[in-house]
Amino acid sequence: RMRLAVLTSGGDSAGMNAAVRAVVKAGIVKGWETYVVREGYEGLVRGNSVKISQHSPTKSVTTVPKSVQHNALVHNLRFGDGELLRSGEGDAAERSGGKNLKGRYIIRVGWDDVRGWMGEGGTLIGTARSAAFRTPEGRLTAAHNLIKEGIDALCVCGGDGSLTGADVFRAEWPSLVDQLRTKGEITEAQATAYAHLKIVGLVGSIDNDMCMTDMTIGAPTALQRICEAIDNINSTASSHSRAFVVEVMGRHCGWLALVAGVSAGADFIFIPERPPLGDPWEDEMCDAIGLASCSHRKEGKRKTIVIVAEGAHDAALKPIKAEYIKTVLTERLGLDTRVTQLGHVQRGGRPCAWDRILPTLQGVEAIKALMESTPETPSYMIGINQNKVIRVSLQEAVKMTKAVTTAIEARDWDKAMSLRDPEFAE
Ligand code: ADP
Repeated sequence: RMRLAVLTSGGDSAGMNAAVRAVVKAGIVKGWETYVVREGYEGLVRGNSVKISQHSPTKSVTTVPKSVQHNALVHNLRFGDGELLRSGEGDAAERSGGKNLKGRYIIRVGWDDVRGWMGEGGTLIGTARSAAFRTPEGRLTAAHNLIKEGIDALCVCGGDGSLTGADVFRAEWPSLVDQLRTKGEITEAQATAYAHLKIVGLVGSIDNDMCMTDMTIGAPTALQRICEAIDNINSTASSHSRAFVVEVMGRHCGWLALVAGVSAGADFIFIPERPPLGDPWEDEMCDAIGLASCSHRKEGKRKTIVIVAEGAHDAALKPIKAEYIKTVLTERLGLDTRVTQLGHVQRGGRPCAWDRILPTLQGVEAIKALMESTPETPSYMIGINQNKVIRVSLQEAVKMTKAVTTAIEARDWDKAMSLRDPEFAE
């Protein structure tokens, strides 16, 4: 029976739990054994230093739908035979009679373990940024841990960094297996059985910064939170006739800033892919805002909103910071200006409907992609294009996303914009 592990990695985003839930449940329905890896790639490198001897059912199967129960009988699978239900540290573990998960990162999960995960924010299985996985030695240990647990399929839900890591792991896998075999860490039979790692990527990121997909899991919720925050700012800005410079997240990607600006009716937006090209840019901003704000103040316009992406810079790639924009607006336009850094509230909390639908549909597609994976097929990233869930080559998507950064560094703004989204480029 196939053994599948799913992990979440990099920056957390709303909808990651729904993705894990969908992958686990769809995997179980296909008759697979399902695992989660705690703490992203770090958990893969740490593996399980503590063994547990046996699984025992923790919940009755009666709450599982009939059709799925039938499947379970066919595949001789017990629902609720995962370990998470009995997990927890310290007091919580004791109260629930659970096992302490210390020293265990690759955990068997059943149907009941992921119940109720759809509407939970963040990622319940933990995420991390793993320096160890960036090294060849770390990835060798990760490969060994997967083989030790008998896992032959891996689903990674994370941002462009995490999927770059997945692509590196995919490309290196044959050599990792070979090294483990040569060192005598695995047997010849294991080397043959695990010669091919099935791997698939789901894009979980608030930034919507991955190429070849229209939307990443978590971006709609983050955008919603930003809109709510700017609504709140709008009311106080109008009351006091003020200007606000609002800094939003997005790393090297301007999507959150751009679409938040559209939905909030901002007066000026700074994004990394296409900085203001006026020389100097301060004149360009003051002309636009002065026209929109100062003259209109007389006619009753009472607020000014400027949105700046955290990765914004000028045409010479010098960072543009919210405090500096405030100084310019205050000194040159005489606007009473405040800065609001939205910070981690943008990470989401409870996912909006779209961040439940997207990961659920994509999670099921991820399982299908893994089922059809052969050494000849490319590893896939699951995306969405014009409302259709699609598979694209993980390698291509990673390459194209990297090309955006290269275009920005080369100050080729047209290319950066069209790689991100041809429609925005127009
Ligand atoms: P995100 O996935 O949100 O973009 P990061 O860029 O921090 O987040 O990447 C998450 C993790 O993915 C890193 O901590 C690292 O373990 C792994 N990773 C990223 N890039 C690579 C790489 N080039 N090679 C190997 N692992 C990588």
